[in-house]
Amino acid sequence: MSYQATNQKLILPGATIGIIGGGQLGRLTALAAAAMGYKTHIYTPDPDSPASQVATMTTVGGFENFAALEAFADQVDVATFEFENIPADCVEQIASRTPVRPWPSILQIAQNRLREKDFLRSLAIPTAPYACVCSAAELKAALKDIGLPAILKTNRMGYDGKGQVRLDLHTNLEDAWARLQTSEAILEGFVELATEISVIVARNIDGETLCYPIAENKHQNQILVETIAPARILPKLAGEAFQMAEQIASATDLVGILAVEMFVTLDGRLLVNELAPRPHNSGHWTLDACTTSQFEQLVRAICGLPLGEVRVHSRAIMRNLIGVGEERWQHLFFEKDAKVYLYGKSEVLPDRKMGHVTWLSPLEEELVITSVDHHNPPPIITPAPVNPTGNLMVGSLVTPSTSNVTPFIKRV
Ligand code: AMP
Repeated sequence: MSYQATNQKLILPGATIGIIGGGQLGRLTALAAAAMGYKTHIYTPDPDSPASQVATMTTVGGFENFAALEAFADQVDVATFEFENIPADCVEQIASRTPVRPWPSILQIAQNRLREKDFLRSLAIPTAPYACVCSAAELKAALKDIGLPAILKTNRMGYDGKGQVRLDLHTNLEDAWARLQTSEAILEGFVELATEISVIVARNIDGETLCYPIAENKHQNQILVETIAPARILPKLAGEAFQMAEQIASATDLVGILAVEMFVTLDGRLLVNELAPRPHNSGHWTLDACTTSQFEQLVRAICGLPLGEVRVHSRAIMRNLIGVGEERWQHLFFEKDAKVYLYGKSEVLPDRKMGHVTWLSPLEEELVITSVDHHNPPPIITPAPVNPTGNLMVGSLVTPSTSNVTPFIKRV
């Protein structure tokens, strides 16, 4: 697409990008936008948000403050969001005065786990078995189909494992239902996981679509703790994952970035777990290991620019700094190969993501990761084949051997 053809839709540097939400994803987007010459305006209820510390302007306001939302909309050339749980009427208010990208309709899907799963089913994309549950009696009835173990999740406002209860043979179902404090939930069959992966797909206003290499994700207490990229999965599985992500991006007419979280089952199948129509924690490695980070890509997509190359130049391991103060990250600044990002959050809370750190190694080098359980050594990655487009890099899984590799990463 030529510059002339896309010109009508272009939002050029010098313009102001509005970001709804003030967390670390907004912060990293604002930094990428600033590097490209854009101004940013954050809308957040938080008077000292991570994003507003690095943005051009901030409006501190609640999501129900329509006068403030309108004033914000009138001051920006395009708006985007950095989390999906924004009240729908708030986004509609902004969209009535300025373009919002991705289209707000995607939030209707991503805000509600049941709608998300129904949407995936409508595309014939596999998920864990699930059922809609609105009472303890319905829970008992649904378990007859879904079986135990299972996970009961609130339909709305769940993230980082919040709003979830695991059910097994010993669970008192009345108590479990009461604990969730909701009137609308989804019951999911518990999936035995070989691993978890995510695909970040970018799509611009002309429908140009690119996937980042797949990331492999490790969770503790349902919170992402570590991402390894490119993921150690077989090329066939990677191909299926890309196809699903592209299908979802096209079906939602995505303009922006979408993370598709997937389970890899023990028998080698892919099940889509969740969609996040914004930059994603499992894509932070792209800041240091890709030609275009997920944050720059979001800016490019929503401003009508062509997408940037997503070529990978290094292998990466990213670890989150969760609930830790300076005593746990100071030493990282003395590690010359550690790329440390802190989000400017003053208060340390137990599950709070305070920052992240990424280590890189050359693509052609074998890699062993000593940051994970030593009693259960991870597989070693062989040099990854590059597909003809140069975009996709997929490592093949080989049996671990500890004798011929050098430790690459220290425990955080
Ligand atoms: P979620 O909030 O749905 O993203 O879940 C957070 C994490 O909980 C996932 O990344 C998985 O590690 C785990 N999890 C969620 N749902 C399931 C499931 N149906 N089976 C097994 N593990 C799950």
